[in-house]
Amino acid sequence: MKPNQKPITLEEALQSTRRECCDRFSGHVNPEEARLLKLTNIDKRYAKAEGVTLFDDEGNTLLDFTAGYGALNLGHNPPEVLEAVRSATTLPAVLLAGYNPLMGALASNLSMLLPGELAISTFGSGGAEAVEIALKTARASTKRKRFLACSNGYHGLSFGAISVSKSAKHCEALGPLMENCHTVPFGDLDALEGELRSEDFAAFVVEPVQGEGGAVVPPTGYLKAAEEACHKHGTLLILDEIQTGFGRTGKLFAMEHDSVVPDIVTLSKSLGSGVIPISVSVTTEEIWRKAYGSRDRFDMSISTFGGNPMACAAALKTIEITLRDRLWEKASELGEYAMKRLGQISSEQKHAKGVRGRGLLLGLELDPPNVPGANMEENLGAMIISRLANNHGILTAYYDLAPTVLRFEPPLIVTKEQMDKALDAFDAVLAKGTMGLTMGFMKSVISRTVRPP
Ligand code: PLP
Repeated sequence: MKPNQKPITLEEALQSTRRECCDRFSGHVNPEEARLLKLTNIDKRYAKAEGVTLFDDEGNTLLDFTAGYGALNLGHNPPEVLEAVRSATTLPAVLLAGYNPLMGALASNLSMLLPGELAISTFGSGGAEAVEIALKTARASTKRKRFLACSNGYHGLSFGAISVSKSAKHCEALGPLMENCHTVPFGDLDALEGELRSEDFAAFVVEPVQGEGGAVVPPTGYLKAAEEACHKHGTLLILDEIQTGFGRTGKLFAMEHDSVVPDIVTLSKSLGSGVIPISVSVTTEEIWRKAYGSRDRFDMSISTFGGNPMACAAALKTIEITLRDRLWEKASELGEYAMKRLGQISSEQKHAKGVRGRGLLLGLELDPPNVPGANMEENLGAMIISRLANNHGILTAYYDLAPTVLRFEPPLIVTKEQMDKALDAFDAVLAKGTMGLTMGFMKSVISRTVRPP
């Protein structure tokens, strides 16, 4: 331990000021992220979060229209889920040599909710971990080496996940990635069939709606046709419902929009209501047996914390609430309403050029002006995000792979009034009259982002 220093206690950490949070994050977590948060003045110190609302330590409230990028369908800190977690605290917290009673119950519920023969669950903690499990399952069961995925897709940041999605930024910084991975354009059935004809792909990995790619919905019928093409050529269909699952797109699972039955589905994010991390890859018993069904293989995708009792308790309660409150119906109804109003805003305002998405996984596409020497794609989004948060109390972000698409992704428990507040704020910030003012802000952002060589 370094001399003359003592560790910060939990009590002190809970009382940290905004300045302390910022300094510690900047010095010891992610200096560049801290710089960007400061630049847009959204480096706030939140003291509390409840449902859709965030409370900062300066007495301001913000409505969270990012919802943990899909992890908070029930909003922040749902009391029933917190209570469910507490109820599991007397069970062995981690027990690998024995049955976890909540894991079996959760796996059995998932098999009841999912279509077809999807029946065997392998648990992890984060989304990328579930994707890794799905890729391993596909390779081990088909004995094929290659993977096919979609360009502009996002499956997390583990090596397997970035290898299949092949985003340019990750390939450049982290390559060489896993070999034998190929992508086809999302929604292009001919390209998919062309590749599948080689009959050597273990799996085709796809999101039913591309989330981080910017809320992109595929053409009607694409996923069903993809399922049929995969079956014809002996390739497994892995549907990544990590962001779309549990009501987000207006159905309990997005696959239901097209009556698609995948061979493997990955789930995470809202499965544990964001209270405790949990993820899962679910497949059929036949595929599971081919991959892992022997004494030397059964533990090939097991992890220490995957599906621990507290995480499973959160998931069991989340599913119960989602079904009881039929949250997918809310997402569908409010999503349609928001889509119409965002469409109107985008047709009237100069720097917006369209709305897309499904249910409450929506995106407003910006039309950045051309400013020589400035990365306006990211700067316009950053500027609008700053205005929405600081002048209107609406927290949003842009989608990870699509900096010109603003996230409109509230918890599914959002009220119509909260939705209207956010829509009015988007309208006001994008309105031509205030854009001039905002351009002044943008110039200051640009001058601060351009660093000396
Ligand atoms: N898959 C999809 C569709 C996602 O949206 C994400 C995260 O946004 C992931 C996988 C990765 O999840 P995690 O960040 O928990 O690893």
